[in-house]
Amino acid sequence: MASTRKRVLVTGGAGFLGSHLCERLLAEGADVLCVDNYFTGRKDNIGHLLGQTNFEAMRHDICFPLYVEVDEIYNLACPASPIHYQFDPVQTTKTSVIGAINMLGLAKRVKAKVFQASTSEIYGDPNVHPQTEDYRGNVNTLGPRACYDEGKRCAETLFFDYLRQHKLRIKVARIFNTYGPRMHPNDGRVVSNFIVQALKNEPITVYGDGKQSRAFCYVDDLIEGFVRLMASPDAITGPINLGNPVETTVGELAEKIIVMTGSRSTIERRPLPVDDPVQRCPDIGRAQEILGWQPRVPLETGLQHTIAYFDRLLTERGEKPEPTLRIAGRIDGAIRP
Ligand code: NAD
Ligand code: UDP
Repeated sequence: MASTRKRVLVTGGAGFLGSHLCERLLAEGADVLCVDNYFTGRKDNIGHLLGQTNFEAMRHDICFPLYVEVDEIYNLACPASPIHYQFDPVQTTKTSVIGAINMLGLAKRVKAKVFQASTSEIYGDPNVHPQTEDYRGNVNTLGPRACYDEGKRCAETLFFDYLRQHKLRIKVARIFNTYGPRMHPNDGRVVSNFIVQALKNEPITVYGDGKQSRAFCYVDDLIEGFVRLMASPDAITGPINLGNPVETTVGELAEKIIVMTGSRSTIERRPLPVDDPVQRCPDIGRAQEILGWQPRVPLETGLQHTIAYFDRLLTERGEKPEPTLRIAGRIDGAIRP
């Protein structure tokens, strides 16, 4: 007999955000299909879910059509860190654009609601601060980040054209820098890099003068925003900024992580990558008003969970110089895999 559970497809479900989303959806009683080509995602991220009868994992590249019966689609598949998305830039654009077309086509065919994981990168190196959803951005179309930025911009265009042309039910979230357990240890993103370097007592690589800023959202807060947006009335299409509007400079983050890990690391300056945005922070007024959403987890608490995760990972891999961990402060709540 057919199940009455909501059937949800999560593309990129074995990645950092995708694995947390799959976990959350399963906890809510959904039937979850995780689709991933494991380019940056890892089976380890979803290993603990595989035994659940309502969870299924499929190896598939969303650049190719997919035919499955589902009620909702969360389209997260796309490498997200600069070194990963710049590794094969043509594939990054294909994943964003062709992948979006395939997922929108699927949504149209099976009449599913479809969510797009867009990004603050669509604002480029912004000259409006904080960034509101009506800001149109400042992207260099020719630079090394363009494969991702323009791919995601085109995906947004496709989502809104499918809304206008085919009356699809769409949800577009613009995600700002998010961190937490299950980030890839080698993805080069600032939080994972600094924590791994600090735990190994290796130099902390601060690019440029370290005065560039980002606003860091803990993964659990973000996933709450995803679920609220998906559950919102059909008239709510987004785009909606999701992020933690507390701005931190990269230099401050480095200092904080050194203190919290009790590391002997020093700070090593490296050149600033091309087109690295100087300042980034979301205006989340729309998410607060429409979804009643705002982040709850302070940076220190989120970092404690993330440090504990990487400490365990490096210890398991025998990559940590010392077995003991000194995290300043208390760890609130359970640490998940
Ligand atoms: P991630 O790299 O951990 O996850 C991406 C997942 O997509 C991986 O599991 C990868 O293997 C998979 N994937 C890549 N190309 C694919 C393809 N062609 N077919 C099938 N699977 C494919 O990154 P993440 O941080 O979890 O990001 C998830 C989504 O959220 C991405 O779309 C990203 O652009 C968006 N996003 C993330 C952040 C952030 O701070 N984490 C910020 C803005 C936007
Ligand atoms: N960054 C850094 N050292 C690192 C990794 C990143 O100083 O080892 C800086 C990077 O130049 C950028 C910021 O941290 O200014 C955030 O980088 P990340 O790659 O995490 O995300 P994004 O640039 O996409 O926001």
